[in-house]
Amino acid sequence: MDIDALPVTALKGVGPRLAEKLQRLDLYTVQDVLFHLPYRYQDRTRIVELGGLRPGMEAVVVGTIEVADVAFRGKRSLLCRISDGTGFLTLRFFHFSAAQQSRLQRGCRVRAYGEVRLTRSGLEMIHPEYTVVSEHDAPSAAEDHLTPVYPTTEGVHQLSLRRLAAQALDRHLDDIREWLPQAVLAALDFPVLKEALLCVHRPAPDAEVVLLLEGRHPLQQRLAFEELLAYQLSLLRARTTKQRQQAPSLGSQGRLHQRLLEQLPFGLTDAQRRVIDEVRRDLEQECPMQRLVQGDVGSGKTLVAAAVATFAVEAAYQVAIMAPTELLAEQHAKNFQHWFEPLGVEVARLSGKQGVRSRAAALAAIASGEAAVVVGTHALFQQGVEFAGLGLVVVDEQHRFGVHQRLALREKGNRDGRYPHQLIMTATPIPRTLAQAIYADLNVSVVDELPPNRTPVKTVVIPDSRRAEVVERVLHAGRQGQQVYWVCPLIEESEALELQTATDTETALAEALPQLRVALVHGRMRPAEKERVMAAFMGGEVDLLVATTVIEVGMDVPNASLMIIENAERLGLSQLHQLRGRVGRGTTDSSCVLLYQPPLSELARKRLSAMRETNDGFEIARRDLELRGPGEMLGTRQTGMPRFRIADIMRDQVLLPSVQRTAALLLEKYPERIDPLVRRWLGQGEKYCDI
Ligand code: ADP
Ligand code: MG
Repeated sequence: MDIDALPVTALKGVGPRLAEKLQRLDLYTVQDVLFHLPYRYQDRTRIVELGGLRPGMEAVVVGTIEVADVAFRGKRSLLCRISDGTGFLTLRFFHFSAAQQSRLQRGCRVRAYGEVRLTRSGLEMIHPEYTVVSEHDAPSAAEDHLTPVYPTTEGVHQLSLRRLAAQALDRHLDDIREWLPQAVLAALDFPVLKEALLCVHRPAPDAEVVLLLEGRHPLQQRLAFEELLAYQLSLLRARTTKQRQQAPSLGSQGRLHQRLLEQLPFGLTDAQRRVIDEVRRDLEQECPMQRLVQGDVGSGKTLVAAAVATFAVEAAYQVAIMAPTELLAEQHAKNFQHWFEPLGVEVARLSGKQGVRSRAAALAAIASGEAAVVVGTHALFQQGVEFAGLGLVVVDEQHRFGVHQRLALREKGNRDGRYPHQLIMTATPIPRTLAQAIYADLNVSVVDELPPNRTPVKTVVIPDSRRAEVVERVLHAGRQGQQVYWVCPLIEESEALELQTATDTETALAEALPQLRVALVHGRMRPAEKERVMAAFMGGEVDLLVATTVIEVGMDVPNASLMIIENAERLGLSQLHQLRGRVGRGTTDSSCVLLYQPPLSELARKRLSAMRETNDGFEIARRDLELRGPGEMLGTRQTGMPRFRIADIMRDQVLLPSVQRTAALLLEKYPERIDPLVRRWLGQGEKYCDI
């Protein structure tokens, strides 16, 4: 049987129970197992000297126990301090038996494997895997090749996945079909698929470790190419399907548009005008628009949305505006009401927290068509919400929604086989080549100009040792009636030790600045509580808002003119840029203080200089791309890109032109290969297009 159709239960040891669990990883067939690729490797091939350990490393070490002790402070734990002449490391065990304790004595030599963490008392490994080794043996590392680490899920052990992969490789590798045309393989000098799969699951002992760890090994690149190709093909296919769909043509004379503009206290920027025209032309078509509007933070995308909404409303259709959070929905609702109600256009607001009666009233107005514009979160598309005639959906800050939600939302508007037009707005600028690869199913417009009279935000980079000066500065701004953001990123719980938590910071700042009204907002708060605090800040009742990065998206408080970002060296460039975009929205000069903990890595130094040197989102994106090496923190989620199994769209950009050419070739000459190729990489549900 074709392994594309051979169920996982064909593998030994996989019964119905395990098969069901494997489904959670989207593993249905033997082929799925072969294409369930390690997302990283552990390097147990060499012993790292203790002096060479750095926090975050996973390493094999060998050392002699100098001190073994049971500590009772906090949680009871067994601590073994080992040394190898180059440095020290503490092995910490929370669970240990008496036998273990009596073995791990002073003088005993151990080999351990684990992740290195930095604590107050130095470098540590918590619950390392370890073995006691003899005094006389030359220390050898345990493995002769890199150890694969597979994405896993509850109830499926890493070791079972390793065993399944091994079994699938041993018994079924030869059944894998090659879908890339011979000419393409030859032209790109690609190895055969089987060899690539084998290497990725089971790297040879002599494989170049550094390349493998970085995902740049030619055999990995071969797979990354195929994955990008499958993704590209699926997007192109989606696009073709969409072009066959029907949408209402929303032609209008633009009278409402004109009236909206007349009541604005300012004129549109050229960029806004151009993008509005592009959208307007799409809306007049009879196939559904799928357009992405990119525009830097503060470029005025909300107004673009309002302007294009007028065309739909004038054509007697409804418009839905969808925001990623209740808070942003609230902000949009206010803006839209402000703009539309004077024009006699009713704006309804749907919210998760609204009372029964107000919800019923909103639902009735939406169903009757009385409300021409509806603003809300994804609650807009829940059951029970019926539109009279939805013509246009605007999705703000798209990367917080997945492709799935985008599609579900389109279905919602499906009436007699006709779909609403869709406009997606994002503040994450992506260079054009990437945009083409990622959004092949969308047209792209760019608002590449900021409204006039914006003074660029002045950015300074200051070490944490000069914190007192920064606090002075906050006081000064507060005294002038300006509002201030103080952002404390919490990167990861395990690293929280050296990071000041937002709570500590708030306490300290409130103490240091009794003159100011200080409030705290963080991601762990209940949504209602969070919104209450944010609303107080928007309303000017709070001078200093201490926050984790929850404020990143879309907040518009023009009176906020100072932003402090702590641990700025930990954040990616585009995230820093998004955060900074929260200030510089009013008429006063704004500044952004990037506080860092020395010493700075080379990369962090470059990122912070980039922030100091430019305010331009596209330039930032360009530098981000340039700086972003493999293994860098900046996650794909943040930039709204799909999560791939092996490809990394930044790292593998060089492949994109040939991916695009190959996609065209397959469409033209080998259309029958498209389906199996897409299924192999994207599975049944295209799940990992989720962005
Ligand atoms: P973003 O693109 O980040 O969503 P917003 O839509 O929140 O930006 O707009 C930022 C601010 O700029 C808002 O206060 C908005 O009223 C204002 N604005 C938008 N367009 C213009 C314009 N053409 N001239 C002056 N101010 C504008
Ligand atoms: Mg916005």
